[in-house]
Amino acid sequence: MLRISEIKLPLDHDDTALAQAILKKLGISKEQLTSYTIFKRSYDARKRGHILLVYIVDVATPQAEKLLAKFAGDRQIAPTPAMTYEFVAQAKPGQVVEGKRPVVIGTGPCGMFAGLLLAQMGLKPIILERGKSVRDRSVDTFRFWVKGKLNAESNVQFGEGGAGTFSDGKLYSQVRDPNHYGRKVLEEFVNAGADPEILYINRPHIGTYRLVKIVQNLRSTIEELGGEIHFQSHVTDINIRQNQVQGITLENGQYIATNHVVLAVGHSARDTFQMLFERGVYIEAKPFSLGFRIEHPQALIDQCRYGPQAGHARLGSADYKLVHHCQNGRSVYSFCMCPGGKVVAAASEPGRLVTNGMSEYARDEANANSAIVVGINPEEDYPEHPLAGIALQRHWEERAFQLGGANYQAPGQLVGDFLADRPSTKFGSVLPSYKPGVKLVNLGESLPDYAIAALREAIPAFDKKIGSFAMEDAVLTAVETRTSSPIRIKRGDDFQSINTFGLYPAGEGAGYAGGILSAGIDGIKVAEAIALDFFAKVDI
Ligand code: FAD
Repeated sequence: MLRISEIKLPLDHDDTALAQAILKKLGISKEQLTSYTIFKRSYDARKRGHILLVYIVDVATPQAEKLLAKFAGDRQIAPTPAMTYEFVAQAKPGQVVEGKRPVVIGTGPCGMFAGLLLAQMGLKPIILERGKSVRDRSVDTFRFWVKGKLNAESNVQFGEGGAGTFSDGKLYSQVRDPNHYGRKVLEEFVNAGADPEILYINRPHIGTYRLVKIVQNLRSTIEELGGEIHFQSHVTDINIRQNQVQGITLENGQYIATNHVVLAVGHSARDTFQMLFERGVYIEAKPFSLGFRIEHPQALIDQCRYGPQAGHARLGSADYKLVHHCQNGRSVYSFCMCPGGKVVAAASEPGRLVTNGMSEYARDEANANSAIVVGINPEEDYPEHPLAGIALQRHWEERAFQLGGANYQAPGQLVGDFLADRPSTKFGSVLPSYKPGVKLVNLGESLPDYAIAALREAIPAFDKKIGSFAMEDAVLTAVETRTSSPIRIKRGDDFQSINTFGLYPAGEGAGYAGGILSAGIDGIKVAEAIALDFFAKVDI
């Protein structure tokens, strides 16, 4: 196979155009082209009104070797790299692997992929999830959104599928991935029912309702391979003897003996972090961000990004990514942008309020939303204690809850009023999507002063990049605190905690991922580390 990059075609090209472009580039006949697959499709929007699709394709032709020699100096043509995932170790069929079964805590993308890989390698993991199965969890989450009744163990953060289940399902990440683990994650999503287009389109997304079915299918695969998944199984203690994990205890008192624990609990498992800290596991504070959600009309964002080609089916709803470095030394950036989506209530603790965003696959709702957040760090902002970032999050989440009326309505303000520092009294052309509702207030006291100052500087600066970003009627809702974990559970090169052997801190909560794809990739890495440890001790 050979790979051709940078094939540019007009947005409206017909079905035969790509094959024609391949034949032309390689100078071969139709008969010599056995097949081709699209490896990546992105777009080049540098010329307004002339957006081009840009393809990378893998081509099968009996002429491959000859062509590679012929185009040796051409940077557009190269051999297709090997991307098939190879297991680092695997039990033989029927082999019973010695040792206590590995335990995975959490069924977010990190725990799911750690569990899937351990099962595929023949290690029959026991997977424990404090929340409910994805169907039952959906009922609780929707009840919260409609009626404002929070279930602290079953919500947007907790339950099968983890934090990203009710999300836009964006599947891209900026992590370095030389081993193509991301490809393995995407392929497993496709095996579980995702649209195969996620394998090749630039910045793919799954959309919230499709994710629910995919999560269920991943669970079935793990179970078929001998893994077990237990819901409403909250891990409340860990038994460590001589710096080695011996087992874990569930809230109902059940003890499970194990020497390998994947800790994939996400960034909201504050009680679990506290318990680990008390048991002496090394934890340090890390930077994260605070801010608001902002909502604009999606049509406005499309128009700013795509100009006259806004609305084209091959482009979909437009997104954006913005950053501004402020005079007070802070940076403000957009985060988790959800085109054509909704702002969601993402609290997991009573009396505290958190926002986040999601979209359905079609991304066809009226508003675009994203978090606009200010970076904070332990040295300047919460130096007191390794868990002080959690206390800071809780403080501002409680403030938002009170400002919203202490009933899980979010406090909100129009952008024009926020910039002018006056309370809002009525909505304009943008209606907020957050449920159970938004109470208009002055958000000026809903975050630390330095953050408010930074946001007041950044919004007009963003307006220079995306016209009308600072439109008077755009709506802000508070508060965005769970952008990433406020702690890191430090691990060594062997993926184990630096002072607790057998504990594999992983995913977003432990500070090693940010997003669905990178959490899945991290799950694969820790599963590999555990398999290497197991199989080093038995004859395979
Ligand atoms: P999590 O997904 O948080 O999973 C942790 C799991 O552990 C949870 O299910 C929890 O119930 C369980 N758990 C916690 N403590 C215990 C315990 N003591 N015992 C047993 N179980 C426990 N990322 C993207 O890449 N794209 C997006 O579009 C996107 N949208 C998002 C939208 C929303 C509304 C939210 C909340 C997040 C979104 N994210 C998105 C972020 C993404 O969801 C997370 O980065 C990702 O889920 C982290 O994966 P994880 O497996 O590390 O942790």
